[in-house]
Amino acid sequence: MIVVMSHRASDGEIEEVLFRLEKIGFQIHLSRGVERTIIGAIGDRKILGEISLESLPGVEKVVPILQPYKLASRTFQEENTVVRVGGLEIGGDTIHVMAGPCAVESREQIMQAARLVRDAGGTILRGGAFKPRTSPYSFQGLEEEGLKLLAEAREETGLLVVTEVMDVRTVPIVAQYADILQIGARNMQNFFLLREVAKVDKPVVLKRSPSGTIEEWLMAAEYIMSGGNYNVILCERGIRSFENYTRNTLDLTAVPVVKHLSHLPVIVDPSHAIGIWRFVSPMARAAVAAGADGLIVEVHPNPSEALCDGPQSLTPENFKEMMVNLKSIAGIMGRKMP
Ligand code: PEP
Ligand code: MN
Repeated sequence: MIVVMSHRASDGEIEEVLFRLEKIGFQIHLSRGVERTIIGAIGDRKILGEISLESLPGVEKVVPILQPYKLASRTFQEENTVVRVGGLEIGGDTIHVMAGPCAVESREQIMQAARLVRDAGGTILRGGAFKPRTSPYSFQGLEEEGLKLLAEAREETGLLVVTEVMDVRTVPIVAQYADILQIGARNMQNFFLLREVAKVDKPVVLKRSPSGTIEEWLMAAEYIMSGGNYNVILCERGIRSFENYTRNTLDLTAVPVVKHLSHLPVIVDPSHAIGIWRFVSPMARAAVAAGADGLIVEVHPNPSEALCDGPQSLTPENFKEMMVNLKSIAGIMGRKMP
């Protein structure tokens, strides 16, 4: 529930409410605004028993959060969360494009990719070092070597780095190199992994599972937030449907719906959603028009030679063209591109 304190509430009155709530076992999240102080109290309302918070001095009203997700809900926080990382703001006015190859393959490949992403206006380099592959015989990623190459690319280009962490055991090493951790679609409900990234002081891109409902996705975000990491960026990346022409079905409705339900930034991955490079740019444009806060897109210096997801990877030329078009759409939406 949310306890809204009156704008006239004294510090002592606020302290008293906090003291009472904590004493009976509520988890407290305090937000001291310019206008008024709001206390988020997470816990079972039944433990309140006979205590009537409304009658405590300084309390204006008590609002229950009816959704099962609490910290992630708009009821808990009305204004948008802006994730600040390495001088960038994700979820603010500027639309950031995270781009790069599916996987880090070699120094030359990731350096070329990083330069082309930077030159076209991207701000964050993507690239998997640990790859979740459907087949155990497919390329599994360069692992720590891949992380080192990403760090080198950051050093040279100034781009930030987002990369997937697949396993609890590799959270420390991925966190050592990455600016933003990515939880892959297959791990959306890997609750142990969510709890582990909750302890890291880096933002998390949380991809939606191909079979995850919006509520399950927000509950996954709640795991990370309730563990202490509020910097969650939600990523729609396509869901399973009867349609099999495209790899998945991009659920663009998720963008306005989730932005209505939650204050967290929402980005879209048209590459994994569609799986065919030709349709990536149109859906990237649609995502920005739908209100997405950013994109994550696969681009490869030479898609025909990619070790992973070549068919959905944009060429450098197509990526550049997409970025120019996105700028126009962003402008119409009253937003900026860097
Ligand atoms: C990826 O971004 O590299 C990836 C594997 O995506 P997803 O988890 O959405 O399938
Ligand atoms: Mn991929």
